[in-house]
Amino acid sequence: MKALLIVDAQNDFMPGGALAVNEGDKIVPVINSIRNKFDLIIATQDWHPTGHCSFKEQGGIWPVHCVASSFGAQLHKDLIIKDDEKIIYKGINLDIDSYSGFFDNEKKYDTGLADFLKDNKVDDLYVCGLATDYCVKFTALDAITCGFKTTLIADACRGVEINTGDIQKSINEMRDAGVNVITSVDLFVDVDNKVKVKKPDVRIMVAGQVCTGKSTIAKVICEALKSKGFDFEFVDDEPVDDDNQDARIEAIIKKHTNLLVETVQLRRSA
Ligand SMILES: [Zn+2]
Repeated sequence: MKALLIVDAQNDFMPGGALAVNEGDKIVPVINSIRNKFDLIIATQDWHPTGHCSFKEQGGIWPVHCVASSFGAQLHKDLIIKDDEKIIYKGINLDIDSYSGFFDNEKKYDTGLADFLKDNKVDDLYVCGLATDYCVKFTALDAITCGFKTTLIADACRGVEINTGDIQKSINEMRDAGVNVITSVDLFVDVDNKVKVKKPDVRIMVAGQVCTGKSTIAKVICEALKSKGFDFEFVDDEPVDDDNQDARIEAIIKKHTNLLVETVQLRRSA
């Protein structure tokens, strides 16, 4: 079984939250776009009692965040999580923090995640979420320790980066420990390294005159490709009288992406 573990995609770690991770919210559409690649989805939530030891006022290093049941502790409103999908709460004990979704920082308390995965015959675990250099890293490292084949989906994570280079350093550390590191686009690529051609998942509508907005179009498309890992369909809503339009747009896309151009379908509505 192939499972996706979403680490701490909670309001307090999103821009505007108590312990905001830069671009934390950018992971949400990426995660939503890859959900259907997995047999099982599990999410963790940092879930602290009031006066938790990790808070600055208690001598910890973090501002007050993810207090159990608070708005800040809720998952981002756009993250798709179904009612029957498993949530693992961590950091629930007053006097010990838990970066990992598996165990607390002293490995005294087990959240039950490893047993849950084993009970569900998961042997292939994919990890994403917040933050790359803390909870995601410790979760991935513990996953390896627990014997799971573990893959990090790098673009479905964002890091705190207190010191420059922390994110890369944490990725290197995970890789050294045996974690496979991919991007979400890799989930859409088959073993022969060819892009799977399938029905587009996303339709990008670009209004206005295509002929005068090529760079804008390319930008929109590239951003969508990067953030969603989807195939897409380009629909322009203006009649075009230039026979080379498709070729030119495709060339722009190719220049910026290299990868998913095979999946591009250009279509005229006029
Ligand atoms: Zn915490």
